[in-house]
Amino acid sequence: MKLSDRVEALAESATLAVTAKAAQLKAEGVDVVSFGAGEPDFDTPDNIKQAAIRAINEGQTKYSKPATGIAPVKAAICEKLARENELKYDPSQVIVTSGGKMACYLAIQALINPGDEVIIPVPYWVSYPEMVKLAGGVPVFLEGDENDSFKFSPAMLEKAITPKTRMLIFNSPSNPGGFTYHPEEVDAISKVVTNHDVVVLADEIYDRLRYGGQGFKSFAATSAKAYEQTLTLIGASKTYSMTGWRAGYVAGPVPIIKAMAKLQSQSTSGACTFVQHGLIEALTGDQSEVEKMRVEFEKRAEHIHHRLTALPGVSCNKPTGAFYVFPNVSRTYPKLGVSNSVEFSQVVLEKAHVAVVPGAAFGMDACVRFSFACSMEQIDKGLDRLAEFLI
Ligand code: GLU
Repeated sequence: MKLSDRVEALAESATLAVTAKAAQLKAEGVDVVSFGAGEPDFDTPDNIKQAAIRAINEGQTKYSKPATGIAPVKAAICEKLARENELKYDPSQVIVTSGGKMACYLAIQALINPGDEVIIPVPYWVSYPEMVKLAGGVPVFLEGDENDSFKFSPAMLEKAITPKTRMLIFNSPSNPGGFTYHPEEVDAISKVVTNHDVVVLADEIYDRLRYGGQGFKSFAATSAKAYEQTLTLIGASKTYSMTGWRAGYVAGPVPIIKAMAKLQSQSTSGACTFVQHGLIEALTGDQSEVEKMRVEFEKRAEHIHHRLTALPGVSCNKPTGAFYVFPNVSRTYPKLGVSNSVEFSQVVLEKAHVAVVPGAAFGMDACVRFSFACSMEQIDKGLDRLAEFLI
């Protein structure tokens, strides 16, 4: 069977592959502790579920009209962005998508021509480079400084920009790094970007999941010029534990949103209609569950960092956002007889029954990613096994 060159060149999503492998082993009766997917273990808050059920019962089961999202959800998104992100958008600047991932895909398809360079800070979320390559673009990797929580500096960014640069993907809080740029750092990076004709795809899907009093500023809120150059991408998956609902959204300049809308009209026809009703409730309803989940993630961040740094040959930064920790495990490679993060992940899965995602998938082979979107009990069970295995 001949497949397209595009697909032949595409890597499978490592995060989803590890998660599927762990699920398969569990189904076969192996007691695997999975730190794989970035998928909260909490149930979706009941008020959100009830809103979607009501929508179904009321017959909201037809195409989304328009395909870019129903009017009340766009209004709710504009309200959220004004309230929490200091961003004023008009509903005409908003598109609702089937998850944040689709939003990212549409943005890249809408903006990138063959040969265009897209700056992707390392470590990066697995899907960014693949989506760029699918559009014919060239990923340009900007390696963060491990001694500074893997962050990149404005000077490093300036150096990476060329006349071919079309886009910067800026993800904060970071998946997989677990770090968050401080507002003044975002301002400084924004000053570099606004001197160039570069669009920023600001992936802020973890905007509300921050720990230890960590500050946050939306990229588009840094200046009027930055606002004109930025697509603000968020979604309900992480904040409201709604991964399976596929509810993402983007706000930005009208011409880009219109281009994304065209693509959406020729692909998914829009996000699921009753999911959009759930999203309205998520954004406008009671927010107390969000804070409860955030507090729990904060405890886990503290605990998993404490446990990981006690392991021999393992070092990591304490997470300030998202629900990932990204330790450097390369000093354990010689002892384990492995030479990279893929082999490390394989051996800990086979021997210790602990699933982690290899850092190579995120552009850093010295590291592996642990998602702490699982219970404290699972964290301790997994770390007990690793401690036994590594000592
Ligand atoms: N974004 C989550 C992760 O990184 C979900 C899986 C995916 O889409 O990559 O684990």
